[in-house]
Parts: sequence; structure tokens; C-alpha cells
Amino acid sequence: MKHVLYGKCVKCGKTYAATPDLTTCECGGILDITYDYDYIKSTFTKDTLAARHSNSMWRYRELLPVEPDTPDTPLRVGWSPLYEAENLARQLGIGKLYVKDDGLNPTASLKDRASAMAVAKAREAGAKVIACSSTGNAASSLAGNAAAAGLKTYIFVPSRAPKGKVAQLMTFGATVISVQGSYEDTFELSKQAIDRWGWYNRNAAINPYLSEGKKTVALEIMEQLNWQVPDYIAISVGDGCTIAGLWKGLKDLYAIGFIDRLPRLISAQAEGCCPLNRAIETGEPWHPMEENTLADSIAVGVPRNADKALMAIRESDGLTVNVSDKEIMAAQKLLGRTCGVFGEPAGVTGTAGVKKLCEQGKLEKDATVVSVVTGNGLKDVANAIQACGEPISIPSDMELLLKAFAEHGIVVEE
Ligand SMILES: *Cc1c(COP(=O)(O)O)cnc(C)c1O
Ligand SMILES: [Zn+2]
Repeated sequence: MKHVLYGKCVKCGKTYAATPDLTTCECGGILDITYDYDYIKSTFTKDTLAARHSNSMWRYRELLPVEPDTPDTPLRVGWSPLYEAENLARQLGIGKLYVKDDGLNPTASLKDRASAMAVAKAREAGAKVIACSSTGNAASSLAGNAAAAGLKTYIFVPSRAPKGKVAQLMTFGATVISVQGSYEDTFELSKQAIDRWGWYNRNAAINPYLSEGKKTVALEIMEQLNWQVPDYIAISVGDGCTIAGLWKGLKDLYAIGFIDRLPRLISAQAEGCCPLNRAIETGEPWHPMEENTLADSIAVGVPRNADKALMAIRESDGLTVNVSDKEIMAAQKLLGRTCGVFGEPAGVTGTAGVKKLCEQGKLEKDATVVSVVTGNGLKDVANAIQACGEPISIPSDMELLLKAFAEHGIVVEE
């Protein structure tokens, strides 16, 4: 890989050759894949990109840490739509709002971007088996992307994982271990198993290539906005790999001169589990918290990528916002009704954060904001029904329909 220099520890600065099975630094720090931007600049231009037909994350190969002859992974990951949400922007009293619907990825979450990268690197490593522990989406995306590539998966999920995600795992043929405990407990068991059997490791924050996959969401947003940089990009945060990837992608584009400034990040967490935001807000090191939110994908009490995430938020002069489960459910309803976008609770937490910051007057009235919806609502229908209610249920009878409309105060339009 001519365009990749090495993996560099974010804690102690030690560098490692960028082999496919790279994990963490001997000091325990997380590695950051470092590029030769001068070389990339000499081979990659906006015109090269514009002429390219590929509509997956692999259209950004020049900025991705894979060998030139590593094949694209089979599923179409990435190139999700970026909608301008005019109605919602008006309601929130903000200049412009865009919604990036990453729930439209093949297994319905942004995690597909990291899992496709994991599959590409596992192939380079000659591995036949990949494993991970996950709150749910990393698992289902890995199982799907690996199935399409003919690789076997061992997946560890906490027993609270919603049925939709477990159904995906079973459908994709993963060997699934549902761990009776927290995400922390799940992670520990997966780590021991991976050490024991030497599987390819797709654990967030251990494998440094994953956030390189996730950064493609930033590359896409910027290309879709024709390189016009928004003021803010809002995203939900659990382990912190996603926001770190988002920031990496933006910095890459800045380094090669595709954009001329950087947006501020909005880090959205759940009030019941916000260790990273709390660290930013108090200026103290992060402390573990309970995993107390219905937004299961970001119920991460012990964030695995705290260093990179905190750095991303600080470097971008970012904002933090913590939202209650009630505010998350309200955002789910609001996005559905104003945009036709169906997000899972963690998927809409960024939007809930934008709404709250608008209400608190913390965003400029003419600001341009991108809100990333990170996962699809069909993964967790029980919570959606709780947020948005049950339908009118009656026998097939016109009189009863009229009665039900009257009872619900529905004035029928013609
Ligand atoms: C994993 C996930 C996140 C958060 O990503 P982290 O890397 O854990 O911070 C947000 N939303 C959804 C839907 C996710 O699956
Ligand atoms: Zn180190």
C-alpha cells in the first residue's frame, strides 16, 4: 500500500507496519492509520472521483487502507442518500438541515462501513473466520458482509440485543453467543475467545482499520454537498469509533485539499449513558457509567475508543449534547413524520441532539447542519411502537370505522 505509511499509536506515538492483522499498541493505545497525503494528492482529484461509476464506499479507495488488488466486498455498502430536510429545518428554526440516512446500508446501519473494511482486511490476512462482540449492529453487519464474502463468523452479543438484530445474525448464518450480562461482559468473553482461537478480530477500537471504513460516511457527505462544508455534523456516540471515523474522513479531505475548512462535530449521547460527553463537559478523564438507555447501540458504559473520540470532539471544537430516552423517542417520531426516515433509537439520537441544541439556542440561526441517522428503525420495532403508538384496530365494518374516527377526533380529508 503505497499510500499508507503505518499505524501510529494515539497514546505513545509508536508506529507499526500496516499489516492486515494490526491490533493495538504494546502500551494498550489505539492505532491510527497514517497516510502519505502527498502521494494521494498526486493520484486522486475531484475529477477522478466525479468520473467514477462505483456507488459504494470503495469509490474512495485512494483514501482507504487496502491493497490495490484487494477486491471490493460484495455487498453495496455506503453511498446512502443525503436528504435536505426543509420542513424539519423550518420546525427547528435552523438555516439548513441535511439528513444522511445510513440506515439504508445493506444490513441497515452505518456499521456496514466498518464491517466491509474488516472483511476486506480479513481476506488480505488470509483469514477464514472473523469474530466480534457488539451491541448488535456491528454483529449483524459483520455477519452479513462476511456471509456474502464466504467467511465464517462468531458473534458475541449482550442478551438485551433487540430481536431484529438477532434475527439478522441467525439469517446470515453466524454462530451467535448471547451473553447473559452487559456489553462490557460480552466484550471480555469475545476477547478471550479471539485470543484462544486466533480468529480475525473485528472488535471496535482494537482493529484500527474499522474507523477507516466508517470515515467513508464523511467522504460521502462532503461529495454529496459538492465539497461545501457544513457548520456542524451531528452523530450519536457509543464506543466512539464512529465519531472518530467521521473526523478522520474530514481531516483526510482537508489534508488533500478537497475542502478548505472543517465543520464542528456534535457528539450526541443518551443521558443515561454519556461517559464521553461527561468527560468533555467536566474536563476530567472519562469514568464508566451504567448502560441506562433504550438506545441499545449506544448503551456503552465503558467506551472502547475514548481517546480517539475525545480527540475528535476537542479538535473540532465540538459540542456535546445528552438526550433523554423521551427525547430520543420524540426525535424518532419527528424524523418519521417530517422526512419519511425511520431510525432506530441510537440512529436518531444525533437528530434528537440537534433538536435540543436548537431549543437551547446553542446553534446559530443560519447554521447548516448534517445529522447522520446511523441505524434503521426496523431493527427494533418494539421501541418504535412505544414511541409512536398502536394503530386503530377494528373489525372490517364501515360503521365501526366511522365510530373509531369520531372517537380519535380524526377529521377525514377527501
Ligand atoms: C454503533 C452505533 C453507534 C455508535 O458508534 P460507536 O462507534 O459505538 O460510537 C451509533 N448508532 C448506531 C445505530 C450504532 O449501531
Ligand atoms: Zn502506544
